[in-house]
Amino acid sequence: MAVGERETQVPSTVGRTDERLGLGWVAWRTSRLLSAAVALTALFSTLTPFGIAATGGLLLDRLPDAISAGWPSAAAERIVGLLALVGVLILVQTVCSVGGQVAGEMLGDRIDMRLQRNLMARVMAPAGIAHLENPDTVDLISTGRDGFSQWLKPGRIPSDVGGLISGALCVTGGCVVVMTASVPMGLAALLTAAWTIYEGQRISTRAAERHYGSSVDSRRAEYCYDLATEPAAGKEVRIFDLAGYLLARFNASWTAAKGRATSISSVREGVSLSLFVAVMCGFIVWLVRRATAGEIDVALCLVYVQAGVIAAGGAAALDGLLPRVQLAMTTYQRYRAAMAAAPMAAAIARRGDGAVRPDGGIRFSNVSFRYPNSTRDVLRGVDLFLPAGKSVAIVGLNGAGKTTLLKLLCRLYEPTSGSIEADGTDIRTLDLEVWRRQLAAVFQDSVRWDVDAAANIAFGAVQHADDVAGLQRAAVLAGVQTTIERLPLGWGSMLSTQYADGADLSGGEWQKLALARAMFATSHGAKVLILDEPAAHLDARSEAALYDKYIELTEGLTTVVVSHRFSTVRRASLIVVIDDGKVVEEGSHDELMREQGRYARLFTLQAESFADARTDGAGA
Ligand code: ADP
Repeated sequence: MAVGERETQVPSTVGRTDERLGLGWVAWRTSRLLSAAVALTALFSTLTPFGIAATGGLLLDRLPDAISAGWPSAAAERIVGLLALVGVLILVQTVCSVGGQVAGEMLGDRIDMRLQRNLMARVMAPAGIAHLENPDTVDLISTGRDGFSQWLKPGRIPSDVGGLISGALCVTGGCVVVMTASVPMGLAALLTAAWTIYEGQRISTRAAERHYGSSVDSRRAEYCYDLATEPAAGKEVRIFDLAGYLLARFNASWTAAKGRATSISSVREGVSLSLFVAVMCGFIVWLVRRATAGEIDVALCLVYVQAGVIAAGGAAALDGLLPRVQLAMTTYQRYRAAMAAAPMAAAIARRGDGAVRPDGGIRFSNVSFRYPNSTRDVLRGVDLFLPAGKSVAIVGLNGAGKTTLLKLLCRLYEPTSGSIEADGTDIRTLDLEVWRRQLAAVFQDSVRWDVDAAANIAFGAVQHADDVAGLQRAAVLAGVQTTIERLPLGWGSMLSTQYADGADLSGGEWQKLALARAMFATSHGAKVLILDEPAAHLDARSEAALYDKYIELTEGLTTVVVSHRFSTVRRASLIVVIDDGKVVEEGSHDELMREQGRYARLFTLQAESFADARTDGAGA
């Protein structure tokens, strides 16, 4: 029943300064050995073709003398030596090519993992959640997932840049050698190669812009794919026959994201590449004619042909690598932008020197709040007191601002104006970690953690995950113990059907598990209990059981409960009615009923609908 180490590790903050470094430095920090291997193999891959060409030329040059001198002779031994050198160079080239690829892939994977882990740590670091609800930052942050797939991965940049340098050297070196045979031919080859590379680079820049410019469409396409393939949406997709709609949306979003147009640049790149190949073919024809006319030595001819082949190989390598590097560079730039944007979008101070004392109650004084990127105040001048050890219920229509109030209490956002004080101390002056340890919460959309049942509860106070008795007590309090014990592997059952022997729970059972998690937190020091619609998914019997235990569950805790179920609400010591971001009524159930105001109307409405349901049931 112990929570696995995998699940208890605290997010790492290593590599904090990585994003300020160039990718070369990141590679060096990631693995010196692999970085050196990538650099050296790139260097040798560039030099060996030239060495092979020169040695081959020398070999051809000396061959006639060796044949006439016969074996054994010094001339024949030199030929053997040259042959051995060619063999060694070919071996070095092969080893460097294969080794460079393997080292490049290994280094790339490690760099990508490091960058993604850094981004995860950076995204989790802000105390608030504004950056997770801001479309611009969300778009940048998605780079950490989408951009690290296939050929967009930045990790391959260091080895690909090695390939680019090697390709550029091969093109230049090859063309320079061609130039020694014919200056116009060499220049023509160099210029057409440069043009091809320039056009290739323009295409890749545009492709990168188009790719990331269309990330909203990409996300939509991905969303359609997820809906079609994940169990959560499976029921509704079938009942409402949405398969055709999803396929059409996927098609449209995918097409919008990727685009179909062939740009002018790709035509120009094709023309320039054809010209380059034509120059090279012309050069070979020119060489053959001069060699057959006896104007040029055959050995030299071989060296020139090889130089042409090396230049062509270099140009092809550049052409293939440039788009990849360009896209990966764009990913890396977006990664850096995401690293910079995440903390700025959610600046909430973590450190504070105030003493934490929720024992005296929590007071909201004239609190107003507006979400970033919004033009409307969601809370307006809220004054509210949560007495220590008592339970306060907040009621109001959908969208009134109840959940927002809880988010402010958790310091997931800070009030735009006004303050929240715990026993007279502004919670903004408290050490955030210490304040959060005071809180236990069951949110409406509580997380269905894809871990085992024990861990699902232990996450309430993960440092005490080995408190088996505490986990059991929390499960009993929340009424979920029997459910857990009936699972295939009991407390060790993974709560996901994605695993063999895994199990899923019903909505109500998940909600009880979330309540158990909060109870576990309270047994380890949390004093403020936040319940946001804790009975929303419960059946009538579970709901009744929750109310029966409500006093026991909340005993000694400063509790704030948001609920539409008036049977829960009436058990609270104080009821606060919120309408359109303002407190409009407060008092006990009896007081508010006597006032005959908004609360009384809502309560009567709900009571009548229950009465109707009972009458209907009796008549049936
Ligand atoms: P309640 O819990 O009372 O139903 P909420 O506090 O969730 O209401 O929301 C209050 C208002 O704030 C709603 O109009 C909602 O649309 C808006 N709102 C909620 N979350 C955000 C957000 N992240 N960004 C912008 N507006 C939001």
